[in-house]
Amino acid sequence: MKARYKYRIYPSQIQIKKLNQLFGCCRYVWNQSLAYCNQLYISGEKKPSYTDLTKQFITQTKKELAWLKEVASTPLQQSLKDLDQAYKNFFNSCTGKRKGIKVKPPKFKSRKSRQTARFVGANYKVGQDKLYLPKVGKIKIVWSRPLASQPTSVTIIKDSANRYFASFVVETLPEPLPNTENSIGIDLGISTFATLSNGQKIFAPKPLKKSLKKLAKFQRKFARTEVGSKRHEKARLKVAKLHAKIKDIRAYFLHKLSTNLVTNYDCIVLEDLNVSGMVRNHKSALAISDLGWRQFRTLTEAKCEKYGREFRVINRWEPTSQKCSNCGFRGGKKELNVREWTCLSCGAHHDRDINAAVNILEVVQPKTKVKTAKETVAENPVQLSLFALSRRRAFGDTKQDEEKTSDWS
Ligand SMILES: [Zn+2]
Repeated sequence: MKARYKYRIYPSQIQIKKLNQLFGCCRYVWNQSLAYCNQLYISGEKKPSYTDLTKQFITQTKKELAWLKEVASTPLQQSLKDLDQAYKNFFNSCTGKRKGIKVKPPKFKSRKSRQTARFVGANYKVGQDKLYLPKVGKIKIVWSRPLASQPTSVTIIKDSANRYFASFVVETLPEPLPNTENSIGIDLGISTFATLSNGQKIFAPKPLKKSLKKLAKFQRKFARTEVGSKRHEKARLKVAKLHAKIKDIRAYFLHKLSTNLVTNYDCIVLEDLNVSGMVRNHKSALAISDLGWRQFRTLTEAKCEKYGREFRVINRWEPTSQKCSNCGFRGGKKELNVREWTCLSCGAHHDRDINAAVNILEVVQPKTKVKTAKETVAENPVQLSLFALSRRRAFGDTKQDEEKTSDWS
C-alpha cells in the first residue's frame, strides 16, 4: 500500500533561487514536449514514446542550452514520465478503459501556478533535520511525524502561497484495527455535512463563506495593481495565502472526521454522489464545492484500506431519501426543502437526512436493526469544534495544524 507523507521545508534564499531554476527547467521540458506532441497530433502522426522525448528534449537540448545542465536531471525525466502518464490517462479515459470522471488532455504548465519537481531513487538523502537534493543542497525540513519506511520518491512542491513542501511516497503495511462490530451509513448533505445512521449530525466549518468578504477585498486590491509590479505580487500572495488557509481548515476537519469514523466502525457506507454534476448544475455550487465531499471520500477510503476497514459505496439511484427506514414504504420523491416527514404507512416521523443515512446502511446490511435516536439528536446535534483551531490560526500559529493536515492518501 502506498501512502504520501508531506512535510514543510524551509529553503534558504539561495536554495529558493535554485529550486525556482529547477521548476523552470521541468516546466520547459514538459511544455516543449507537449507542444511537439500537439504538433504531431495535428499532422496525424503518432505520439512519440517516453524514450524518444527524453532523447530529444533532455539529452539533445542539454547540448544546446547550458542552463538545463545546471539542474539535477532526474526531475526532468520524471517530468516527461508524468507527461507520458497524463497522455495514457487521457487516452484510456477516451476509450473507456479508465472509469470515472473524463480526463482532459495534458495542459501547458504556467510559471504562476503550483510548481513541482520529483526526485527518485538514491538521488536525494534524508537527514536528521535536513533533506539533501542534488544541485540544491541541504534544505531544512520539519519532521512533523516519522516516515513510515524508506521513501521511493520525494516531490518538492511550491504552492501558490509561496510555501515549500516535501511529499514522500512510502510503502506502508496495513495496520488493522480491532473489530468494533459497528457499521455506519453516511448521508452527505449541504446544510449538514454528514448525517450518520446512528443519528449523529456533523457540521462542516464553512471557511469560504466566512472568508468570502475578506477574499473579495483582497481580490479587488489585486485587480487594481499593475501587472508585473511589486504591489501586484504582494496582493496576489495575500489572496493565495487566504486560499491556502481555507484549504487547511477544510482538510483538518475532513481528516479529523474520517479518522474518527474509521476508528469507530468496521464498515463505512457512503452514497455515490455525482459531485461534479451537482457543482455544475446546482444553485449552491459554491457551498457544495466548499464542503469537500470528494476529498472526504478519498480520505475515508484510504484510511479504511490502511486500517483494514470495509468501505462501501452504494449506487446513487437507490431511493434512500424516498423510503421509510422503519417499514420500507416508498413515499415518493420529496423536495429538497422537506427536512422532516411522517410515513403514511407506519406513522413514523423522520428526519430526512437520518432516514437517508439509515437506508444507505441498509442497502449493504439489510438485517441490521438501527435505532434512530432522532429526538435526542435533533435537540443536541454534535458539532466538531473547530473554534480552537481558528483561534490558533488567528494568532498566526499554524505549525501545529500543518502536522495534522499532512496528506495520507
Ligand atoms: Zn413507515
